[in-house]
Amino acid sequence: MKRPRILVVEDEPDLQELVRHNLARERYDVVTAGDGETALREAHRRIPDLVVLDLMLPGIDGLEVCRRLRTDPRTSSVPIVMLTAKGEETDAVIGLAQGADDYVRKPFGVKELVARVSARLRAAEVRRTDEGRKVSHYGDLTVDSLKHEVTVKGRAVELTVTEFKLLRHLVLNPGRAFTRNELLDAVLGPDAFVIDRNVDVHVATLRRKLGPFGKNIQTIRGLGYKLREAPAGAV
Ligand code: CA
Repeated sequence: MKRPRILVVEDEPDLQELVRHNLARERYDVVTAGDGETALREAHRRIPDLVVLDLMLPGIDGLEVCRRLRTDPRTSSVPIVMLTAKGEETDAVIGLAQGADDYVRKPFGVKELVARVSARLRAAEVRRTDEGRKVSHYGDLTVDSLKHEVTVKGRAVELTVTEFKLLRHLVLNPGRAFTRNELLDAVLGPDAFVIDRNVDVHVATLRRKLGPFGKNIQTIRGLGYKLREAPAGAV
């Protein structure tokens, strides 16, 4: 099996080496960059399987790198784990809004970082497999894109087309935070003319129709929504 390639973007040499060393020890293929420009060049030279991205970088900062990786179709689905220092929590939330998958706060235990990286790579692998077979599972919930059917414990749930697409998008990206606009764009496309752009209404209906399972769709105050990384509250 091909070794996952990880791009580590960190400007502090000691920290970069610590992260590189520990990921390489887990048999990941690690490449490093000390600034945003190098990171973007490296990411496009060979698409990595995951990016560990420091928030504060000289030149193009981590948020901008994150945004550019997300808006480029070649790198839009590469998982990103951000590194943030104390006091940068607001930026971390913005990072999640820009499409980062997770963040780890400095100073961090290197074991924790390695564990997060492995978890994100596994989730990305499951997502690829699910997209390939058109049927996605999230606990007892199944989303069948061929039949356009959603079931909870085998019981069919009637959804509108918008609700279906919304749920499918969330199930394909568990644990990832989305802004309301990102959800609408993912579901309807950025150019779609929609009178009701009120995603809150769709989410509220979706939660109600899913019953106890609906509480897995979490509200992130001031940001948007995410599906719990692992399902809870299923009955
Ligand atoms: Ca830094």
